[in-house]
Amino acid sequence: MRVNEKFLSVQGEGLDAGRLCAFVRFTACNIRCGYCDTEYAFYEGADASQDEVVAWLEQTGVRLCCLTGGEPMLQPDLPELMERLLGLGYRVLLETNGVIPLGRVPEGVVRIVDVKTPGALRRPESPPDFATSRRFLKSHFHYPNLALLRPHDEVKFVLCDRADYDWARHFVAEHGLAERVQAVLFSPIHPGLDPAELVAWMREDRVPARLNLQIHKVIWGTEVHGV
Ligand code: SF4
Repeated sequence: MRVNEKFLSVQGEGLDAGRLCAFVRFTACNIRCGYCDTEYAFYEGADASQDEVVAWLEQTGVRLCCLTGGEPMLQPDLPELMERLLGLGYRVLLETNGVIPLGRVPEGVVRIVDVKTPGALRRPESPPDFATSRRFLKSHFHYPNLALLRPHDEVKFVLCDRADYDWARHFVAEHGLAERVQAVLFSPIHPGLDPAELVAWMREDRVPARLNLQIHKVIWGTEVHGV
C-alpha cells in the first residue's frame, strides 16, 4: 500500500465529527478538484504493508479510523484491510470520491461518498453546459455505486456556488438520497462560499441535508497537514 500520512486527530466532518479518530491517508487520486486541499497526497508517500498500517492503528488505542486520500480505493488491497479492521472491532470510515466501483467494500464499512459537483471539476475550457455534458456525467461518478449505499452511509457534496447547490439538491431529490443514507452533507468550500448564505438557501428550499463544516480548519486553519 502507498501511504501518504497517518495521524491521530478529531474527525473534522460528518456524523463522527468531534470524535478522536485515527486517519490513514493513501497516496494518489484519479481526479483533480479545483479546491483540493490535499494535493500533497497525489504523489508523496511511502510503501507500507497491511501489517504496518494495522500495527500503527492498534498503537493509537482509538477504535474509530478513517481511510482517506487522495482516493483510497486506488489501493488494490484496501478491501482486505477494511475487512481486517472490521474484524478487529474498528468503526471504519471510508472517504471516497465515488468514481471507482465500491462493490468490494465490506458491508460494515461506513462509506462517505463525496459526489463531485460541476464546480469541483470545472475548468476554464469547460463548455457552458458542463453540468449536463456527457464528459462530466461520465467522469465524475460511478452511478452503480448509488445502488450500493447502505442506511449507515453518508453522501457529501462540496459546494462552490449557487449553481453547485442547485445541482446537488436536485441530485439528492432525483436519487432519494435523504431516505437512503444516514446523512446528506452539504459542505461549503472554505474560503469561497459563505456558510450563512448556504443555510439561507437550505432554509428557503427545506433541503433534507446537513450543513457540514470542517472543524479541523476552524481549529488549525487551512494550511496545516496531519491534524
Ligand atoms: S477527490 Fe479529493 S483528493 Fe482527489 S482531487 Fe478531489 S478533493 Fe483532492
